Amino acid sequence: MNTAIKEFDVVVIGAGPSGLAAALSAARNGARVLLVEKNGYLGGNMAIGLPLLGYLDRDGKKVIGGIADEFMKDMAQYKTAYGTAASAHKVCPMHNSVTLYDHELFKIVALRKVLKENIEVLFHTDVESVEVENAQLKKIVLRGKGWRILVSARVFIDTTGDGDVAYLTGASYEKGQKDTGVLQPPTMMFTVAGVDIDKTIDYLAENPDQMERSKTIDCAGGYDADFFRSDPAFVMVAMRKLVSQLRAEGKMPINRENIIIINSLLPGEVHLNCTRHLGTDGSDVFSVTRAEIEGYLQIEEFTEVLKKYVPGFENCYISQIYPSLGVRESRRFSGIRRLTEKDLVEGHFDEETIGIGSYPVDIHAGDGLSTIFTKIPAYGIPYGITVSDEIEGLMLAGRCASMDAVAMSSARVMPICMVIGEAAGIGAALAVKQHISPRDVDVAEVRRILLDNDAILSVGE
Ligand SMILES: Cc1cc2nc3c(=O)[nH]c(=O)nc-3n(C[C@H](O)[C@H](O)[C@H](O)COP(=O)(O)OP(=O)(O)OC[C@H]3O[C@@H](n4cnc5c(N)ncnc54)[C@H](O)[C@@H]3O)c2cc1C
Repeated sequence: MNTAIKEFDVVVIGAGPSGLAAALSAARNGARVLLVEKNGYLGGNMAIGLPLLGYLDRDGKKVIGGIADEFMKDMAQYKTAYGTAASAHKVCPMHNSVTLYDHELFKIVALRKVLKENIEVLFHTDVESVEVENAQLKKIVLRGKGWRILVSARVFIDTTGDGDVAYLTGASYEKGQKDTGVLQPPTMMFTVAGVDIDKTIDYLAENPDQMERSKTIDCAGGYDADFFRSDPAFVMVAMRKLVSQLRAEGKMPINRENIIIINSLLPGEVHLNCTRHLGTDGSDVFSVTRAEIEGYLQIEEFTEVLKKYVPGFENCYISQIYPSLGVRESRRFSGIRRLTEKDLVEGHFDEETIGIGSYPVDIHAGDGLSTIFTKIPAYGIPYGITVSDEIEGLMLAGRCASMDAVAMSSARVMPICMVIGEAAGIGAALAVKQHISPRDVDVAEVRRILLDNDAILSVGE
């Protein structure tokens, strides 16, 4: 076993949307940053064929700025053989907005941004253990490829989605939806090529009853075949009738009531957000493994179903299966503030607001076929959800931050995770610079730095 000892100001563990934004903002504000990632690429769920949702609020107003916007502007300027690598933010009657981007090129754009800020990156590295002294996180021990790497830092930002570092510190956490404790199910994302999506849209135009998606999905009018024809930036949630007929005939390999087809910028390709693995805990390695095994098999069977029964998919073939299971929900840790369902419903903003959420509450049933999807007003995200209330030197960003289950079911989308990460990175860098705890950072200063980077902190700005 090789051993290395390293020291940084800020260590960010997990290079998904929240981790990327946290690492970039910490580095830009003067911190020496290490970004640790268990996979061999940057992006986390930004690299599994998903669109950005919730860039606009339910009134079509842009609520996401800062680093997330910077990323999308870079992608939109990236010229490819099929056009630019990101679409505009298209208003959607269901999702508020949909932004398509090329998730493969995103990995390169992200890498260039990270390298530009002199952030040290460690791929293929997982957290083995932590050293906590007097409720302060002093060190983490990383493990990868026969190396044991002891890393000390003033601030550690856990952006692993599952809160793997926070878990090892013994900090308190919650899991599951309120009242039931049931976790939203994960999905194994995959892409098929050889699709004639115009034919699928024609089928929906000729069979409008197949536009039915769910009784529990809150959607404004105009979400129909004409909408899909109007612009390729769409997510098609439909075909409940077909799915229930196939289920009745014993031909539906997946536990969901409709099909989610994400259009791609690449011609002939679509991404499928369809497999569902009930009873899975994304923070339990045995459970994740079971779900991944099930995922590969569901993908194969479901592709055959698409070929046989969905017009436009007759000649499709699997072109990509993403390397990590998409986990919607696992641990959420306790912070000095907590974002709650009440904050969302009331559209609460205050002087601690570091960004805006507005994406509907989107809860995929972990014990059945349905999805509950409820529109909400824009709401402020408080800085304090990123600061552990129990462990000094530990911050949280992304879906493991301090939120209740309902709040997380809105704030979990990728633009909002970036917003949370950007604020956490600034808070961490200020704490290092001023030799104070992240909890004592002046939120007004965090807000000022965010605004300097074109963040949006109130509706109407
Ligand atoms: C199936 C599915 C569909 C979704 N659809 C959409 C959508 O259409 N649009 C949208 O905007 N959002 C969508 N979301 C939500 C969104 O993708 C996630 O909630 C969001 O990516 C969470 O960001 P994060 O930074 O917290 O975590 P992640 O994106 O999960 O990133 C975490 C990173 O940490 C790394 N990591 C994990 N554990 C460790 C460890 N122990 N050591 C080192 N590295 C580690 C991971 O490899 C990963 O790179 C969807 C989620 C799922 C699962």
